[in-house]
Parts: sequence; C-alpha cells; structure tokens
Amino acid sequence: MAIDTPATIAILGAGPIGLEAAIYARFLGYEVTVYEKGRVADHVRQWGHVTLFTPFHMNSSSLGRSAIETQAPDAPLPKSDAHLTGQQWVEEYLTRLTQVDLLRGNIREATEVLAVGKEGFLKSELVSHEERFEELQLVLARNAAGEEQWQQFDIVIDTTGTFGVPNHLGPGGLPAAGESSLNRDQLWAHQSPPLSFRLPNIESEHRDFFAGKHTLVLGTGYSAATNLSELLKLQSKEGSTTITWAVRHSEATERDLIARFPDDALPRRDLLASEVNHAATDGRIQVLFNAQIKGLAPMQNGRWDVQFYDEAIEALQVDAILANVGFQGDWKITEETQLHRCYASGGPMKWSATLVNSSTADCLSKTSQSSENLITTEPNFYVLGSKSHGRWSNFLFQNGLEQIRMLFSVIADRTNLNLYQTPLSS
Ligand SMILES: Cc1cc2nc3c(=O)[nH]c(=O)nc-3n(C[C@H](O)[C@H](O)[C@H](O)COP(=O)(O)OP(=O)(O)OC[C@H]3O[C@@H](n4cnc5c(N)ncnc54)[C@H](O)[C@@H]3O)c2cc1C
Repeated sequence: MAIDTPATIAILGAGPIGLEAAIYARFLGYEVTVYEKGRVADHVRQWGHVTLFTPFHMNSSSLGRSAIETQAPDAPLPKSDAHLTGQQWVEEYLTRLTQVDLLRGNIREATEVLAVGKEGFLKSELVSHEERFEELQLVLARNAAGEEQWQQFDIVIDTTGTFGVPNHLGPGGLPAAGESSLNRDQLWAHQSPPLSFRLPNIESEHRDFFAGKHTLVLGTGYSAATNLSELLKLQSKEGSTTITWAVRHSEATERDLIARFPDDALPRRDLLASEVNHAATDGRIQVLFNAQIKGLAPMQNGRWDVQFYDEAIEALQVDAILANVGFQGDWKITEETQLHRCYASGGPMKWSATLVNSSTADCLSKTSQSSENLITTEPNFYVLGSKSHGRWSNFLFQNGLEQIRMLFSVIADRTNLNLYQTPLSS
C-alpha cells in the first residue's frame, strides 16, 4: 500500500544512512524529521582518526553528491578514489549534506529517541491487524534541555546503528566476572585502568598512555586489526610497548586470524589484515589461542588483572584492554513495537534471514535481497543501515544505499523507483 506525499517520516539517527535516507525522502516530497542524540554522524566521529578502506565513491551517493554540488559548485567534493578518514568523511561530505536546502532545518541534534510505539495500541494488541496499519507511529525524544516530547509520524525509520551498545567480552558473549559492575560507557574517559570497547586514537591523542605499556586486544574483526596496527606502529618507535592478542579459536584452526579474501577488491583492507597476521607470527604480537576472558579486576597499581576461562592460560596483568568484540545496537527503543527480531543477529527477522549465509563472508559479496524483506512485523516501521545487520558486523555504507532504494520503492509503491539513477536536475 503506497504512502503518498506529503506524509511524515521520522528518521532515528543522523548517521551516514539516516542522512542518506532523509535526502532521498525529501527529494520525493516527504516531510522528514531526523533525530540525532549527539552531533551529526556522532558514531563516525568516535572513530574519526581511522582511514576508511572503501574509497569516497563507495561512501557517498550520487544523489547526495549532486545535491551538494548543485548548492556549492565552487567547493569541490573529495576525489572519487580518495580514502578519507572518518573525520574527513564527516567534514567533507556528511556535514555538507545536512546543509543542502532539502535537509536544512530537518535535523534535531542533541535529541535522543527514547521510545517508539503505535498511537492507540499496545504491543500486545491487534497482531497483524489492518487497523494497526492505519495508526500513526509515536516517537518520544529528549532534547538537550532535558525536555521530553511526543511526536506523531506516518512512518518511522530506525537508523541508530550499533556502535552505541558494544557486546560483552566474556565467554559465550556473556559479561566476564566483574564486567557488569563497570560503567562501560565511561571506562576510557574516567576510569583507570582503561578499558575501551572502541578505537581510541593510539597514535596521537592517547600516544603517551600506550607507549611502553602492555595492552591486551580482544577480537578478530577489522576494529581489532586497526587497533593492533596502531599499536604496532607505536611499538616500532617505542620498543617496550607490549601487545597481547587474545583470540577465541584454537591454534590448530587453519585460518587467517584477520580474514583475508582472494583478490580483495579493497586493497587497504587486505593490507591491514596481512600486516597484523604477519606480526602475529613473528613475535611482535603475542597471541593467546582459545582465550576467553573469565574475569577482570582493576588492581591497586592501576593495571587490570585478567583471568582466562581456559585455566591452562595463565592470568595476565595488563595496563589497558581493547575489547573489540562487536556491537549490538540499542533495541530498548523498539520494545513497545511488534518488531520481530532474529534470535541470532538481533536484527529484524526477515532481513536477517537474507543475511544468514553471508554473515561471516566478505561484506562486498552479499546475496541479492528483495525490498519485501525490509518490511517488518510492525506496520510502517523499518530498520535500515548497520542496525539492520544487528550483531553481524559485515555492513558497508553501500549496502545501506541499496536498502534506501528498495525501501522507498515499497513506501511509494513504485517498483522501479531509483533516484540514484536519476540526475538531480530532471
Ligand atoms: C572503525 C570503523 C571503520 C569502518 N570503515 C568502513 C568503511 O571503510 N566503509 C564502509 O562502508 N563502512 C565502514 N564502517 C561501517 C560504518 O559504520 C558504516 O558504513 C556507517 O557508519 C553506518 O552508518 P549508519 O548510519 O548505519 O550507523 P551509525 O554510523 O552508527 O549512525 C547511527 C547514528 O544514530 C545516532 N543514534 C544512536 N542512538 C540514537 C537515539 N536513541 N536517538 C537519536 N540518535 C541516535 C548515533 O549518534 C549515530 O549518529 C566502519 C565502521 C567502523 C567502526
């Protein structure tokens, strides 16, 4: 059933995909409000020192580039093959997107969405009933002054990402003993000894802390690889910097610690993986296999005491822990909707089912997905972007653009609708 313009759309989160969804919707004539709990692209800013391994043409849309170029023809965009840092992506593209006429005034920064629901109906009422389709969505949000306000919309699109809620670092994804009592959001900033679930700027901002210290890194994804690579650079200058890497699988497993793909189309990604894998074999990184953290405790001397689940692995005392164990997103905001979530990824059920076979594979080679799979069990409520992949971390910006194209063909009920193929002036 088409929802015609001028309908109202709430977009939760002004990250890269929220902004792209907003400009797409505005271009079609929808009224859009984008809620952002921090600043625009807040999550990307948090890893702003990291260089993207996809080039600029894969981190921007034709629609966004045309809108910016039309409005500011004298300020060129980055070259299509440029590899920007996260911060450059924010400054040279995403922020500029918020300044085009179609989006100006539509974004509410420092406004956190607390809950989404259906006007007039509880979660438990009218399962798959026609009337539920006809009801408006309610969004409860709190602004910087602490004021909480309700607003009604025809459609809600959740693009709040996953980066805000990291996974736990213990065995089986449970909290390690001692982890639950820590304030995980404040660990880096306010507590000593430090524990980060993200990517602190090791090479410059936190260089003095890491130089000559012993850091334990957890995880085998590209965030772990990025942290390990930065620690290696530091170690090459400050030889007393010690790096221990705890991985869950056994030494006998014949696989690269950081996954590599044959003829990788993203050479920067392959370079990162091969550099770290190599350092794990030549002694610059000490690798602990079968190593899951059973418990951790801060010590009087400002270090962590770390116990392993496998008692054959001796306890370690380290100065810092970088726990790159993945993210899961904040699903509390959707608790009162009838959203059916996948029992493995935590993302929307139908979309997750399309990913199940590609969840561990190269994020460039996704199986083909249909727009029908974006429709959730809560009418007119959708999840796009990295959050739609839940705990499966193989999301790329370009996957999100494909979702946006498909979703608006559903909302507008126009199968062939594709603004990414239509010049802006037409
Ligand atoms: C280190 C690192 C490197 C990466 N490199 C690449 C790369 O090279 N290429 C690539 O394609 N992808 C890369 N990615 C993946 C990248 O995260 C995504 O492509 C992109 O950021 C996903 O955008 P998003 O809009 O889905 O989510 P996010 O970027 O997570 O944006 C979500 C937004 O929602 C806001 N928000 C959260 N909760 C609320 C709330 N309750 N109310 C209001 N606002 C809220 C957040 O503040 C944030 O601004 C990388 C990721 C990381 C961590």
